[in-house]
Formats: sequence, C-alpha cells, structure tokens
Amino acid sequence: MSEDVFSRYQRVRTEIDAAARAAGREPDEVFLLPVSKTVTAAVIRELYDRGLRDFGENRVPVLEEKAAALPGDIRWHFIGQLQANKVRKAVKLAYMIHSCDSAALVDRIDRISGEEGRRPRLLVEVNISGEASKSGVPAAACREVISAAANCRCAQFSGLMTMAPFGAAPEELHRIFSALREIGEAARRETGLALPVLSMGMSGDCREAVACGSTLVRIGTAIFAEA
Ligand SMILES: *Cc1c(COP(=O)(O)O)cnc(C)c1O
Repeated sequence: MSEDVFSRYQRVRTEIDAAARAAGREPDEVFLLPVSKTVTAAVIRELYDRGLRDFGENRVPVLEEKAAALPGDIRWHFIGQLQANKVRKAVKLAYMIHSCDSAALVDRIDRISGEEGRRPRLLVEVNISGEASKSGVPAAACREVISAAANCRCAQFSGLMTMAPFGAAPEELHRIFSALREIGEAARRETGLALPVLSMGMSGDCREAVACGSTLVRIGTAIFAEA
C-alpha cells in the first residue's frame, strides 16, 4: 500500500522543520501550504479530516468545484494566474490571493472585494528570474503594484510571492529568494505595513527558500504525487 497522504504531509512538515532549524529559524515561522491542484476533493477531505484547513488551487473553475464539495471553513489560497473576468469568483472564495501581478488587477480585486463584502489577503507576485514563461511582475516594475496593494481599502496587502525556475541551481535559488526578501524589506519600510508573508518555495526548492526567509512554502508534488 502506498504511504497515505497525511503521512506524506507529516514527512514534508518534518523536512521543513529541519530546514528551518538548519537556518537558525523556528519551525513555526514557516507555514506549509498543501497545493491540492492535482487531486480530487476526496483527497483534500482526507487532510481536512486530520485538521488541515488551508489548501492551494491555481484555477478558478476547479476552485469553485472543490469549494462547493468541501466544508466552508477551508481557507483557499489562489496561486494561479488570475484573469480579470474571474476576479469576482476568486474574491468570493479565496482567503489569500498569491498571484497579484499588476496594479490594475490589484485595483479590481479591491473594488470587487468591497462590492462582495470580502477582505481577501493579497500577495504581490514578483518575477525575479525574468523567465518569460513565469508569471509575476518584473522586479523592476514591482513598486507600482506594491503601492496599489498598499492603497487597498478592502483587500489586505500581506506580502510577496515568487516562483523560481524549475531545476535552478542552489546559488541561483538563493539569489532569487534573497532578492524577494529584500524587496519585502523595502516594501515594509516604504508602506509601514507588517507584510508578514513571503510565499516562496515548492517541492523542489523549499529548503533554499526556507534558508532565505520564506514564511510560507507551497507544496504539491511532495505531498500529493503517488509514491
Ligand atoms: C503547482 C504549484 C506549486 C506546487 O508545486 P510542486 O512543485 O508540485 O510542489 C506551487 N506554487 C504554484 C504557484 C504552483 O502552481
């Protein structure tokens, strides 16, 4: 029998704890977000029944389907590219939107949040590596998006997110993740906001992300891929 999904979650949690301690940090400084985009509501339910409440999804129609099939106290994290015409649905369901990559999108989320009486947390997604295929605002242009996020009246600007290129070397990962942390520090100084969230690190690069200050790792494969 393959290892069950909660055992895999616990094993990943133990690895994150070790990575935090190795970096001189406390394990509870790093939140482990299971990215459930590849699995059914029934698999999410297994983790829900073990007490987990946060899950990451990257497509609005799938998020809607799963949210309808699962308990209402789940905190859904939207981590995919968000099209303007899907903002209302995302705002109605999401606890946190990790993928805000333009000032226009931030303004739209905030306006619709007001209309819907919601206060989603927002992260500005920064494309540090400059890879054309990756989403996120280029680092050179991120101040405008950060300033839009800081001016939100309903949505709550909570920090930054990045994705590193798949298979990048450790030195490159350190450069990318440290750059996001530094942008976060500058944004804190400029906005006076706490901005506690640095969403960085996936199955393949979470150790480096934790070493560089990640407070939230988004883990799919290591938890949900069948062993
Ligand atoms: C799929 C996805 C993840 C999880 O990636 P794994 O490599 O499977 O851990 C994290 N973040 C985003 C934005 C994703 O789309």
